[in-house]
Amino acid sequence: MTGAVERYWDVLDAIANAAREAERDPGGITLVAVSKTFDAEAIRPVIAAGQRVFGENRVQESAGKWPALKAETPDIELHLIGPLQTNKVAQALELFDVFETVDRPKLARAIVKEAERAGLPLPRCYIQVNTGEEDQKAGVAPGEVDAFVALCRDELGLPVTGLMCIPPVDEPAAPHFALLARLAERNGLPDLSMGMSADFETAIMMGATHIRVGSAIFGERPPFRPG
Ligand SMILES: *Cc1c(COP(=O)(O)O)cnc(C)c1O
Repeated sequence: MTGAVERYWDVLDAIANAAREAERDPGGITLVAVSKTFDAEAIRPVIAAGQRVFGENRVQESAGKWPALKAETPDIELHLIGPLQTNKVAQALELFDVFETVDRPKLARAIVKEAERAGLPLPRCYIQVNTGEEDQKAGVAPGEVDAFVALCRDELGLPVTGLMCIPPVDEPAAPHFALLARLAERNGLPDLSMGMSADFETAIMMGATHIRVGSAIFGERPPFRPG
């Protein structure tokens, strides 16, 4: 049986190889290790192996494990990669360093308001883009990205540094990654969060600066807790 640490080394190797193939500096690619559904015991060995950037998609679940893990290793950077309800923003600000799923004006305004109220710094934010324009998926439509970035960054003063997408499961990912890269470039945004276990090498070819990899490191998640 292979453990998370061995799989972690394999993912780092695969990132280095993909970077070489894309003629990119591997230092420009940040691995966000997605630890959702795994408890602190499963995460600790990966931290001990050197990983510092992690992703979680539920505020409540994160509140149960990350305060202790962050206290043990203060230079952890935690990314919120799941949908955020406005009534969870205050709690999310205590836990997360980067909010990758900003996708509507109400949420953007709540982040500014709650950070101000709590006296906390504004988190680095990425705008989630629904590149496949899927009804059931979060994210702003590609045609609304420019206006929404302008609202968040210029009007509300949120530190928006990038875009994030989750392509449709039943389509090749590359065209979605290419679209996200074009939208980011057009808006002067340096960060591109795209690519998961199944397609992070493609994402690196298309310019990803942040890849979100879960099961390739931690193993399969229980199927009854999707997303
Ligand atoms: C779970 C999740 C991932 C990681 O998916 P894997 O296929 O396990 O690598 C990446 N991004 C988001 C938004 C997720 O919810």
